[in-house]
Amino acid sequence: MMSFEFTETQEMIRQTARDFAREQIAPSASERDKNGVFPAEIVAQLGELGFMGMMVDPEWGGSGLDAVSYVIAMEEISKVDASVGVIMSVNNSLVCWAIEKFGTDDQKERILRLLASGQKLGAYCLSEPEVGSDARNQHTTATKQDDGSFLINGTKNWITNGTSADIFLVFAQTDRSLGHKGITCFIVDGDAEGFERGQKEDKLGIRSSDTCSLGFTNVRVAPENILGEVGRGFNIAMETLNGGRIGIASQALGIAQGAFEAAVQYSKERKVREKPINALQAIQFKLAEMSVKVDAARLLTLRAAALKDRGERFVLEASQAKLFASTAAREIANEAIQVHGGYGYVREYNVERFFRDAKITEIYEGTSEIQHIVIAREILRD
Ligand SMILES: Cc1cc2nc3c(=O)[nH]c(=O)nc-3n(C[C@H](O)[C@H](O)[C@H](O)COP(=O)(O)OP(=O)(O)OC[C@H]3O[C@@H](n4cnc5c(N)ncnc54)[C@H](O)[C@@H]3O)c2cc1C
Repeated sequence: MMSFEFTETQEMIRQTARDFAREQIAPSASERDKNGVFPAEIVAQLGELGFMGMMVDPEWGGSGLDAVSYVIAMEEISKVDASVGVIMSVNNSLVCWAIEKFGTDDQKERILRLLASGQKLGAYCLSEPEVGSDARNQHTTATKQDDGSFLINGTKNWITNGTSADIFLVFAQTDRSLGHKGITCFIVDGDAEGFERGQKEDKLGIRSSDTCSLGFTNVRVAPENILGEVGRGFNIAMETLNGGRIGIASQALGIAQGAFEAAVQYSKERKVREKPINALQAIQFKLAEMSVKVDAARLLTLRAAALKDRGERFVLEASQAKLFASTAAREIANEAIQVHGGYGYVREYNVERFFRDAKITEIYEGTSEIQHIVIAREILRD
């Protein structure tokens, strides 16, 4: 059964997220983007709202909400600031989800509780300087010591929340001879000896989210901080990314919706020969096209979330949602600039920021090329 109605709780989440986004995030978004400032205070407030561990069981400090509510909140937040969207998304769907799903009760008590309540921030460390799409081929190693602990050595690249996070999920080779079946996931503390954070990257978009490389030199991890079983790390990484794609699809959806609304608004205000430009069919057709894409992105994303909530397989649907929503975000932001003419090309309006922010959604948590591979594999599965 499929319903297009939101529950009262989901409507309440939308209102809470929308109000918070408008009042607390939007006013400073442009300035943070310009100066590349991490929104520390906003992240703390998101924690207080229960938005940093939305789907985590209240037993472990989370809000116990469904994935549909998460999509709704992500859209509303990303509609005004996609940088805040990704910070929230990584903590919720990549870090909290993985620990709740694969962690021990002890890890949930010690670590998940702090992450889900927003007291600590998490990062997910799979990519490396030489390894992105081909994540099976990890170069970072973790070598077992006599006391059962592991020493991690290597470099992780492009890590969202890297300079600010407290807790890091790190994937490393524990047995190279086993290929990707020799990858293990570790929970690493940001204060660990031998752990070094690189310079913040100077990015095209999502500029107020931190992205940096991380260095590991004999970083010791105790056995109680292994996530899941030794050798199961690659499965953990992939299963986590399946859900993560719903988060990035909703981030893209938020950008698309924000750009669309800005274009509609501007088309009412800008006059050519004393008539608003929305009287021109050329502009009307752009708005019509944008509205179809943004709605299609929303429906695909909500479908993936609804399947996840029902405990059904959603790999295909999450990938389809991510591929479509990210393409739509880029195209809609591009057209939103076009509707604004020259004014769209400068910082005065938000559409140039939406355009820069949209691009990353086609790259991280699996590029669009990788989404095509996942989708084809799923539709050809027996
Ligand atoms: C701002 C930002 C934040 C990020 N945050 C994180 C994070 O928090 N954690 C993390 O682990 N990573 C993160 N990443 C890394 C991101 O996931 C990778 O950049 C992405 O997976 C692509 O990997 P790559 O950059 O190595 O490109 P490559 O894998 O080298 O790909 C280069 C090109 O080749 C294509 N390609 C590669 N393999 C195939 C194939 N088999 N078939 C067809 N085409 C292919 C790609 O689609 C792409 O067009 C982030 C990246 C950025 C830029």
